[in-house]
Amino acid sequence: DAALYHAKNQGRDQYQFFTHEMNVAVSERLSMENALRQGILRDELKLAYQPQYCIETGRLRGVEALVRWQHPEKGLIGPDQFIPLAEESGLIIALGEWVLREACCQGQHWLKQGYPTIEIAVNVSALQFREGLVSMVSRVLTETEFPPQNLVLEMTESTLMSDANWAIETLDELKALGAWISLDDFGTGYSSLAYLKRFPLDKLKIDRAFVRDLPDDAEDVAITSAIISLARSLNLLTVAEGIETPEQLAFLKQQGCQLAQGFLLDRPLWGQDVEQRLQQAMPD
Ligand code: C2E
Ligand code: CA
Ligand code: CA
Ligand code: CA
Repeated sequence: DAALYHAKNQGRDQYQFFTHEMNVAVSERLSMENALRQGILRDELKLAYQPQYCIETGRLRGVEALVRWQHPEKGLIGPDQFIPLAEESGLIIALGEWVLREACCQGQHWLKQGYPTIEIAVNVSALQFREGLVSMVSRVLTETEFPPQNLVLEMTESTLMSDANWAIETLDELKALGAWISLDDFGTGYSSLAYLKRFPLDKLKIDRAFVRDLPDDAEDVAITSAIISLARSLNLLTVAEGIETPEQLAFLKQQGCQLAQGFLLDRPLWGQDVEQRLQQAMPD
């Protein structure tokens, strides 16, 4: 280990300092991992739901489920602070199943209450994308009685590209269950346009990195309009995420992007606040 070797040569005190730091980092990680494991069992995870609207009609089309951790001491923690840890430790398998079940239960609850049908999108991480995913999704759909055609599975290019043939097979099986597939963070991973055609996709989600500087940044204008026209010719719906300004929304609408998600329209909401939106969407 280069850092350790260097420190050793600078004398004993430094050596102890470095190993101490490293021990703290390792034990912090372990205790965080244990806390998360406990947290899942103790029902400390919560889902927020961010609405996605049809740009043309303004109608609520669906929501994306986004996980949060209500930590007993640290308060509300965002996914960027624990999803990577869950992925490294393998906990993402249990966490991912919890998220899917919770989202489907919530969706089924809304349907039972007579609210208009909306789609629920759930993020699937690379580690979940392996043997057992299809049977897990199938089991959760059966248990919760949530209609598969209301479920959207969001996954990234890198998840699919790491083993493209396996991905095609798995996506075909997920589609056979009735679920929809959305390619998340499109344009940020290493994508192969040839595979875009071979993957059985329904939606392309334009990453918010490309939306942020619209409509002023000429490169982002070129990239987003190319993505939208590519999607149209491949018969895919486009979803733009991270929309924060009316100018961004107007540009995307003019380019023919169909669906919109972002702080301008709605922040991620707790379930009861989604019900308000659903209420507004009800015919009188
Ligand atoms: P993502 O899938 O790209 O989700 C969208 C993120 O963008 C969310 O952050 C959302 O709050 C944020 N966002 C939405 N609109 C705007 C906007 O207008 N401006 C800005 N600046 N941000 C906006 P969040 O909830 O912190 O989630 C971060 C990431 O964590 C997600 O990125 C996703 O990759 C991951 N994640 C969240 N929930 C899950 C989950 O249940 N499973 C897995 N595997 N990953 C999850
Ligand atoms: Ca997503
Ligand atoms: Ca995204
Ligand atoms: Ca992202």
